[in-house]
Amino acid sequence: DYNDYMKKITTIAQELLLEVNHKDIAVDFTCGNGNDTFFLGHQFKEVYAFDIQQQAIDNTENMCRYLKNVYVHLDSHEHFDKYTRRLDAGIFNLGYLPQSDETVTTNADTVITTLNKVWERMNYEGRVVLVLYPGFETGKREAMKVEEYCSTLASKHFDVMKHQLINRKDAPYIICIDYHR
Ligand code: SAM
Repeated sequence: DYNDYMKKITTIAQELLLEVNHKDIAVDFTCGNGNDTFFLGHQFKEVYAFDIQQQAIDNTENMCRYLKNVYVHLDSHEHFDKYTRRLDAGIFNLGYLPQSDETVTTNADTVITTLNKVWERMNYEGRVVLVLYPGFETGKREAMKVEEYCSTLASKHFDVMKHQLINRKDAPYIICIDYHR
């Protein structure tokens, strides 16, 4: 069912970040309940996590309370470079916080602004994974806009992959971006 499928998608997104060569600095750009931050905290030397909702910050801090290498910030993700100058990996889990205010969702223009900063801050090579949710109206528009941007990234520096269930309409899917200088 949907929950099994969601579990599968979020697990694949995390596993894609296991393949990053230099596991020094990771950023969770939308930490929500903190599941990805928690995962990354066990894999990377330092993890920076961002969310614009206090509830999400509280949940993530609680989830990661025993991890000394996780830094959680109540701030919009396009300001991530105020907290870390470099990164090797990042994850964007778009949409809204599960079981919370559905009107507080990520925004395609902000995500694209942040991604453009990420390429400037990325160490020699790195990977960014995005989970997109076309199953609701604003999510669909956001997914189209973000995917359109990703498809224009220059192949000299980027490999952009899409992981999608092709027998399920409007299912969440993954875009995985590998960057190298
Ligand atoms: N990865 C999370 C988890 O494991 O529980 C789920 C993330 S949830 C789908 C998306 C989150 O993005 C929400 O908690 C929302 O508050 C947050 N968000 C929306 N706009 C944001 C922004 N500009 N900067 C940072 N977080 C944002």
